[in-house]
Amino acid sequence: MAFTMKYEIVPRYLTGPSQRRPVLALDPCRFMVAHDTGNPGATAASNVAYYERTRNDMSASAHLFVDDREIIECIPFLTGAPEKAYHVVYNVTTDNDRYGADANDAAGAVELCYGGSINLAEAYKRYVWVLAYACYRYGLNPETDIAGHYMLDPARRTDPKEPLRLLGKTFDDFLQDVADEYASSVTPDPPDAPLSVEDANKLIHFLSASYLAIDDAEGQAEFHRLANELRKASGQPEE
Ligand SMILES: [Zn+2]
Repeated sequence: MAFTMKYEIVPRYLTGPSQRRPVLALDPCRFMVAHDTGNPGATAASNVAYYERTRNDMSASAHLFVDDREIIECIPFLTGAPEKAYHVVYNVTTDNDRYGADANDAAGAVELCYGGSINLAEAYKRYVWVLAYACYRYGLNPETDIAGHYMLDPARRTDPKEPLRLLGKTFDDFLQDVADEYASSVTPDPPDAPLSVEDANKLIHFLSASYLAIDDAEGQAEFHRLANELRKASGQPEE
């Protein structure tokens, strides 16, 4: 299977080891957490620049920030060997109940930027796409393996409900959008050619010797046809 890379994911890793980027392996990625920044008007680039400046001041982080123009990865997850990011407090239990692990140890975190001059519809398209791509990369089911931060820490968090509300969408609508994006972006591998080019060309070489050895138009046409069958079977253009 292949996945259509509609958008670029820009790696801009925080300096580590630091509080925000401890440089610990995330292994394996078991689910995704959908966040929003809760900071209307702040772009992906400005959030990542802020995280870099304050990398030793606090541990809260996320893997990816998405706005209407960019998808920036500040903790390696899709553009490098996946590392842990601290994006859900450890002392909640919904993540353990649902997925058997703490989000910080087993989940990717994507932050949606919204508000101010950010075109939310465009930012949302990139957010949905990068979550679909993460599901593809880690073998996750978009309909069951994406949690909203508010589900995991309902006493303290509401994200990403506010930007979804602005779009007129429920969390279930959002999951359906990710599932639809996944379905339309995955393409099956082309079938393997049943014959290697090298073997086909050896056989064509024998056929051409026979072709030259006979003086019979009908026989030559048949050798020509057989050579083209071998070309087709090995994925080569007919002659
Ligand atoms: Zn959050």
